[in-house]
Formats: sequence, structure tokens, C-alpha cells
Amino acid sequence: MAKDGFKGLGVSSVSNKDTEILRISEGLKVEDEKRIKDSLKSYAKMINDGKTVIFPTETVYGLGADGLNEKAAEKIYLAKGRPSDNPLILHIDRFDWIDKLAYDVSDKAWAVMKKFWPGPLTVVLQKRDVVPYKTSGGLDTIGIRMPSNKVASIFINLADTPIAAPSANISGRPSPTTPEHVISEMKGRVDGIVTWGDCSYGIESTIVDFTGDTPTILRPGAITIGMLKEVVGDVVYDKAIDPKKRLDDENIVAKAPGMKYTHYSPKADVVIVSGEAEKCVNWIREKTVENSKKDLKTAVMCKQENFSLYMENNLSEIYSLGRNNNEVAKNLFKTLINLDDMGYDVIYSEDFTDEGVGMAIMNRLLKSAGYNVQKVR
Ligand code: AMP
Ligand code: MG
Repeated sequence: MAKDGFKGLGVSSVSNKDTEILRISEGLKVEDEKRIKDSLKSYAKMINDGKTVIFPTETVYGLGADGLNEKAAEKIYLAKGRPSDNPLILHIDRFDWIDKLAYDVSDKAWAVMKKFWPGPLTVVLQKRDVVPYKTSGGLDTIGIRMPSNKVASIFINLADTPIAAPSANISGRPSPTTPEHVISEMKGRVDGIVTWGDCSYGIESTIVDFTGDTPTILRPGAITIGMLKEVVGDVVYDKAIDPKKRLDDENIVAKAPGMKYTHYSPKADVVIVSGEAEKCVNWIREKTVENSKKDLKTAVMCKQENFSLYMENNLSEIYSLGRNNNEVAKNLFKTLINLDDMGYDVIYSEDFTDEGVGMAIMNRLLKSAGYNVQKVR
């Protein structure tokens, strides 16, 4: 069998020394569900045997293991090089898991789950003892999500256990959202990898904490504060994710433990360039010349609407992130990883409005830039 190759329109499986790889063709349709199921069985068995398997979700690729098996969860931290106080999210395929995994689940939490599941939303609830502290990162609460990705849902159903799955990147790096990126990042580090095309959202789930009085967003994502408010009324952002406040006050501690670590960082230096488009283009052009004198290769990430402005100003290494915030979210991590692979040393990025999914985009972009923002006046 060809290395990592497709076999017709269907499904192919490849073994190498460490990692079994299954590439499910994007062309597979609903009527092929049985084929998908058959090909996933041995991977679900790996989960039941306490092994690690990467699988596709609609947000980003997830690095999965049996979330109720302490030893299996431990392997996730090892594969990612992830600090052990950074909790994992449990992925389920049906609602009846909730009462088995959590208690004191409020009506608001139920309303949000019923509205947005399956989908890119994680709820934080009080955990029951069946969830090991290894999975919850030592916390008494647990993040739970029901993905909408069909392969994810079949896979979890076959394993018949909540699958703990953080993003399938080495800790600190951008989250893989394409088969190529996830295989090149994680091959050799996990027991199995299942791919099924690109992830449709491209950034991780919105995390909402329902253990306090007011639902609190710990991580912004595609389900926005406006969408949540329509269902449950008052919803607030955790202080630590407001980038402006965070920059002003070093003492704010992130409530989602993962948010305090350096994150989403490519090898290149990322700088967010903020200001009027034409002034930013001029600033970037001057910097690009300076950088090239130092032998540093420069790339620019921009909105599609500004693409031609760079071209008109004799800048050529320009990468459009998309025509709207949904496209930008989908392309952000993919582009950061691609630019790294192309050997850029410096990446200048335009900034994005906080509207809708823009809040989530800026949250990821600021972290990948280490909060390095150049204001151009
Ligand atoms: P990842 O799956 O790699 O996106 O990481 C999971 C994220 O969910 C991290 O930022 C965690 O800190 C956050 N998270 C998971 N469970 C909890 C929880 N019980 N309380 C707060 N944050 C959580
Ligand atoms: Mg992550």
C-alpha cells in the first residue's frame, strides 16, 4: 500500500513503525458511512486499549485517548509535551453521558448544550469521580463537548467512552487543521492518526464555564457571546481573555489553565500591525527592506480586501487569510504553519475586528504574536 496514500475514493490504512495512519477520503458520502465505520473499528479499539489516536473534528484535529482511563490520558500529555495542569476536554457523542460525567448541571448549561450541540462549544461542569484528575488537570470541573464532525461522532460512538482530546499539536504550536499538517506534526508520537480533510472552523471551540452564577466564556470561538446571550441572557468574558485588560494587568490569572501558556506560536516572529491600511502597508514595506538586509525573509498575512494594496506597493510575499472572519478563522493556523514550512523569519499580520468570530481570531493571533502589536499612526 502506498505510503500515506489514498486507495480509490474510499479509505486506506498505512502502518509504519509507530503510527497507524488512516486517511479517509473527503469524497466519502453519507451512504459510505458503513465503510467509514468499518475502517474506524480498529482505531476505536486502540482507544479502548488505552492508546492515543488523532481524529478530525470540525474545530481542529484532536489528540484522543480514553478520558476515563488515567494512564491513557497521561499519554496525551506526553505526546504533546503538555503541562499536566492543563486540562483536557472530553468528547462525547450523545447527551446521556452528561449525567454520568457531571453533576449540578444548570438549566442554562442544558439550554446551551441543546442549542449548540453537536458543534464547536465546550461546557465546563462539576465533574463526577469517574473522571480522573489526570483528565481534568487536577480540577474538580471538566470541559465536555459533542463534536459535529461525522467521523468524530462515529469514532466516539464506536469507542463507547468519552474521548479526551486536546488539539493535536506539540504544546505551544499552532493547532493542525489539515491532514498534511497533523501527520507531519504528530506522526511517530501517537499510536494512530485518522484524517478526513480540512477542519471546517479552523479554530478551537468556545469554552463556557457554567459552574458559577453567570455563564463565563473562558475561550472565545465560533459560538460567539451574542449567540450565547440569545439563549441564556447574561454571559460574560473571563477577565483573562480580554486582550486589552490582560496587557494592562499582568496579575490577571487565566481561568482556563491552557490560556496562560505561550500558544499558537510558529517558529517565525509574528507581529500584528494595526492602523490605517495604507500606513500599515508603508510601514511593512520599509520593514521588509530592513529585514532583507539582515537576511530575514518576511511574509504578510492580510484580509482579501487589502491584498491588491500590497501588490500595488511592490510587496509580493502576501498571503490572504480570506474574505470574511469565518474564512480567516479557517485559514489562520493553516497559514501560520505553511509560512513556517516556507522558511519565513518574520510574519506581519493585519489585525481583525472583535465582531463575531473576530474575538476568537484576535485571541489566537495575539498569542501567536506573543502580544507583539505595532501601532502605526
Ligand atoms: P485544547 O483542547 O488544546 O484546546 O485545550 C483545552 C482547553 O480547555 C485548555 O485551554 C484548557 O485550559 C481548557 N479547559 C479544559 N477543561 C477546563 C476546565 N475544567 N476549566 C477551565 N478550562 C478548561
Ligand atoms: Mg490546544
